[in-house]
Amino acid sequence: MIARVIPLTQTRAIRGLFDYRLPPSATAEELRVGSLLRVPFAGRTIAAVVAQTATVSELAPERLATALAVLPARLPADLVELAVWIADEYCSTPARALQVLLPAGATRGLQERRALVAAITDAGRSALGDGTRLTAAQRAALTALAAHGPTTAAPLGTATLRRLEGRGLVSVALEVQRRPARTHSVSSIAAAPPPLTAEQAAALGPIAAALAPSADGAAGAEGEDGRGSAREFLLHGVTGSGKTEVYLRAAEATLAAGRTVIILVPEIALTPQALARFSARFGDIVAVLHSGMSDGRRHDEWLRLARGEARVAVGARSAVFAPLPDIGLIVVDEEHESSYKHEGDPRYDARTVAARRARVHGAVLVVGSATPRPESVYASRRLLMRARVDGRGLPAVEILDMRGRHNPLHPDTRLALADCRHAGGKAIVLLNRRGWSNFLSCGSCGRVWMCPNCEVALVLHRAGGHVACHHCGHRERVPTTCPDCGSVSVARHGAGTERLEHELVAALAAPEFPVLRLDADTAGHDARARILERFHAAPSGVLIGTQMVAKGHDFADVGLGVVIDADQTMRFPDFRAEERTFALITQLAGRTGRAGRAAGRVLVQTMEPSARPIVLAAQHDSETFVRGELRRRKALGYPPFATLVRVICAALEADGAFTAADALRARVLAAGAADLAVLGPAPLFMLRGKARYQLVVRALDRATAVRAVREAVDAVVADRALREVALSVDVDPQ
Ligand code: ADP
Ligand code: ZN
Ligand code: ZN
Repeated sequence: MIARVIPLTQTRAIRGLFDYRLPPSATAEELRVGSLLRVPFAGRTIAAVVAQTATVSELAPERLATALAVLPARLPADLVELAVWIADEYCSTPARALQVLLPAGATRGLQERRALVAAITDAGRSALGDGTRLTAAQRAALTALAAHGPTTAAPLGTATLRRLEGRGLVSVALEVQRRPARTHSVSSIAAAPPPLTAEQAAALGPIAAALAPSADGAAGAEGEDGRGSAREFLLHGVTGSGKTEVYLRAAEATLAAGRTVIILVPEIALTPQALARFSARFGDIVAVLHSGMSDGRRHDEWLRLARGEARVAVGARSAVFAPLPDIGLIVVDEEHESSYKHEGDPRYDARTVAARRARVHGAVLVVGSATPRPESVYASRRLLMRARVDGRGLPAVEILDMRGRHNPLHPDTRLALADCRHAGGKAIVLLNRRGWSNFLSCGSCGRVWMCPNCEVALVLHRAGGHVACHHCGHRERVPTTCPDCGSVSVARHGAGTERLEHELVAALAAPEFPVLRLDADTAGHDARARILERFHAAPSGVLIGTQMVAKGHDFADVGLGVVIDADQTMRFPDFRAEERTFALITQLAGRTGRAGRAAGRVLVQTMEPSARPIVLAAQHDSETFVRGELRRRKALGYPPFATLVRVICAALEADGAFTAADALRARVLAAGAADLAVLGPAPLFMLRGKARYQLVVRALDRATAVRAVREAVDAVVADRALREVALSVDVDPQ
């Protein structure tokens, strides 16, 4: 048997399949599409994925190399195809796509974790009663095994167990370590699922119909203008309308039909919450996958899914690659979140990949949000939920005009926060900028402290005692004198979360009213979870942070929400800037006034009090907002009415970067498609010491755009004169 493999290299120029013989120890059954091999390749040993099998190779026998080993994990064949599709769709290579899709443990050849498990024998049972001589430790171990059944050996004392094994009183074996069965205490929290509200039932109806085995989904189940698949739904429900319960019911129906489920959430921080809700309903068949897990744990969860022990995968972006067979339902919660876009190569979009997987598996796709993307409104059948489950109204949103003000907090905000403390309530304050101040300048000569590697200002982090670049991580001590003119007057401009925290601590903090901060400077997934937990558990207090604080957390009793600089997201030169602003305000309003004492109140501080996204968000009018965005996008030729592909050329020498971008432009245009336009090359700010030029290709037809870019990129990569230039291709840039 011959294995035709995709070697897992990063090199863009390596394409195609490579033939290998199997190692003598391997059996033919081990060789399937998706098997992982370790192979000699270009003088190194690397992992490779079997893409095809054959009986003979076209290579001469003496040129045919032999694989070194077959690795224990195997990729389902549909994921190999998916990797090839992703490589095409995002102008990458199958090898790179496979590397983002495989858990790291699998390519390292990680074994399943095994542990010693002990069980009591019949002789052991009688030994407990018949006066057999036992030490205290031996008696304790036997008693425990008699009471609890087979148990991991370590806590009972391996030496003790080995001695008992020698006497035939226990048996000890090395077994695959199962996760400890989650106890039923979890499911007892859930009790029975709540009866659905009328809106939930109405939303679930069409989803359940599409899930039914007989559904061919023909009649009346298309997107608003007849586009999209009959199995793609957008659950457009206001915050607190109970979207998760709809997902749970849809998942239940899918599992009952013998099929499997993937649930995607936008943030690692939200996976425990989602996991808890799904585990409470479905117990041990739920597995979790996200990049914050150790390789070993992630690999274990991956194997549980691949083996069919777990049938529901819950996780962030990469869980879209869960190795589940026969997927019946894929849910993308908070579908408007940009974290669904992967930042490395291939720059895949988990929402697009989810739609592809759903189509391949004949599964139903449900994407949900209170602030859906125009793309989803355009492409899917929309199911609306307009009311909160608890019957409360959405919180009142007040716009506070900050023009002409210097203090970061509006007087009304100060008053509202003081009232909140007085009343023993909770508040969330959102400021999408971390650090103490945005930039430092010299009071005498005007010098601005910049990153030496990137053309951006350094941000002051007072607690850390440094100024830092938020792009490359470069750090310097906080300057006290200007290196250009010697002045000691260093001015600080703007306020970030760190400074705001400092001010609020001084103004408000008390033992019964903690002031907590959550942003990317809160190191580590666990530390963040602890802060959220503290805020959750405290009877009152303030949580300050970047957009992280506005996302999906279900705090029952937040009465006040504050957005400090609502325009911040609008200042980006990006056609999605207004959507981000709208979503941020709406999502924060969504955290406010849930099941608390009062209906809740949101304050939005802004320099542009009449800006459309701010006014419409204050009116909770996502319908008008998204309709307007669709009209605007149509007029300007933006997605979903066209496809954009962005290519960035980066090099130490600006000339090289420009030449590569210009060559790309010429080649894309030479492809000669009528509906294709190229913008650029436009210079971008220097990043990590590299000059950068950007090209944006726009075409009405997606395949045309992607193909033209792919061919141009391949040609430029092959040009030896330009080999110092790094190219990065982003289809559907965010
Ligand atoms: P969304 O995701 O739409 O913002 P959630 O799914 O978080 O809303 O639901 C909000 C709250 O309402 C949750 O605490 C949930 O347990 C509760 N809930 C959902 N559906 C029902 C229902 N049918 N009856 C009672 N409570 C419900
Ligand atoms: Zn100076
Ligand atoms: Zn930098």
